[in-house]
Amino acid sequence: MIVILKQNTEKARIETLIKKFENMGLSCHYSSGAHTTILGIIGDTTRVDIDLVRADEIVEDVKRVSEPYKAVNRKFHPDDTIVRIPVSKGKEVCIGGGFFGVIAGPCSVECVEQIISMAKEVYKSGATLLRGGAFKPRTSPYSFQGLQAQGLELLLTAKQETGLPIVSEIMDLSHLELFRDVDVIQVGARNMQNFTMLKALGQCGKPILLKRGLANTIEEFLMSAEYIMAGGNSQIILCERGIRTFETFTRNTLDISAVPVLNHLSHLPVVVDPSHAAGIPWLIQPLSKASVAAGADGLMIEVHNKPSTALSDGAQSITPAQFNSTMDVIKSQVLFEGKKL
Ligand code: PEP
Ligand code: MN
Repeated sequence: MIVILKQNTEKARIETLIKKFENMGLSCHYSSGAHTTILGIIGDTTRVDIDLVRADEIVEDVKRVSEPYKAVNRKFHPDDTIVRIPVSKGKEVCIGGGFFGVIAGPCSVECVEQIISMAKEVYKSGATLLRGGAFKPRTSPYSFQGLQAQGLELLLTAKQETGLPIVSEIMDLSHLELFRDVDVIQVGARNMQNFTMLKALGQCGKPILLKRGLANTIEEFLMSAEYIMAGGNSQIILCERGIRTFETFTRNTLDISAVPVLNHLSHLPVVVDPSHAAGIPWLIQPLSKASVAAGADGLMIEVHNKPSTALSDGAQSITPAQFNSTMDVIKSQVLFEGKKL
């Protein structure tokens, strides 16, 4: 961290500031030029409140030269994290560190027949996890809000039928107990900065799928993952699902560069959700291919047996047949990238 001091500051006040940093276990490198005096702060500055430093009367400006996150930072943990999702009979599904995961299923769980048939279809095509929303974050309060607790029960039934571990979104911490048998808890884009929730999920002992917020930077995304990891949970899957831009052709804009950037900055696995990024079924296959090529550790794809009747996100859902052909393309591409699916 570089602290630029105001001109003509009394030496005693600079010494007081240096003491403050030293009391935090940091060391300071003082450098005085003809026009500028700077302090180079050396050590772990993740706990330094940059706004507090900036508020000091003798400070002109402050610049971070290292990232504000530590636990999720690849610099402190060079090896890839493998998220391990236990499945029955001692088996596990892995994502990250060379393991590629495919999470597929409907946007919402609608009824027992739908979720079981979807689970069987995506399993047959090679999906490794089943998704299904039970609590749905909808823009309109008049839209389908999900089957809620019953939806989670239906997902568990589908898990029993296929053996696929399940992923579902939590919208409120008061529901956490209902998620005790859910294998991966999803934090949706709209809750990416629900810090109370992130803290609690840091202690829940379950893998978390953290989606990037609609308008959040990569640094904010990683800071949210840091919240979960600071609580003691390193089983985090990052999910790029498109961000808001000026483009209106697609539902969001898939930030494909976020994949190699996240891989560079963090050891956590990165999956891409082309469904919410694009909002258009025919874009799912090309964006999936782009994601694998960019280094993704997995995909999350919405699949519905009859998209035109889906209770949510039908317009972006692909059919089981389309999913199957996408998987055919993806499987060889994943192998080519040297990963296991
Ligand atoms: C979803 O996965 O169905 C969902 C609501 O996603 P997001 O939070 O990315 O919008
Ligand atoms: Mn959806």
